[in-house]
Amino acid sequence: MPEMLDSVYEAFRQVTKKASVIPEDTRLATEPAEIRGPDEPDTSTPKDRARKAGDALLGLNDYVFLACVCGNRIKVPPEAQFAKIKCPTCGTQHNVGG
Ligand SMILES: [Zn+2]
Repeated sequence: MPEMLDSVYEAFRQVTKKASVIPEDTRLATEPAEIRGPDEPDTSTPKDRARKAGDALLGLNDYVFLACVCGNRIKVPPEAQFAKIKCPTCGTQHNVGG
């Protein structure tokens, strides 16, 4: 069975000229994952996990994430036409895409 898979992958590479079946622009994580040891309790809340999952989806859709000094993460859609954006929490001005 592994030989059959190898030939399928080889055919994929020949047809698409791509090295992998996984798209190159697949970016599920926009920042390094936190590694939790086996003895450390999981302190994340369902809300934290939902936010991370939502951010991963926005990252896949080319959203830009700006880290603000106040700790806020501003999510900018790819079609944004403005050069600057103001943090809704603290009012700090950020340059977008520059
Ligand atoms: Zn801020």
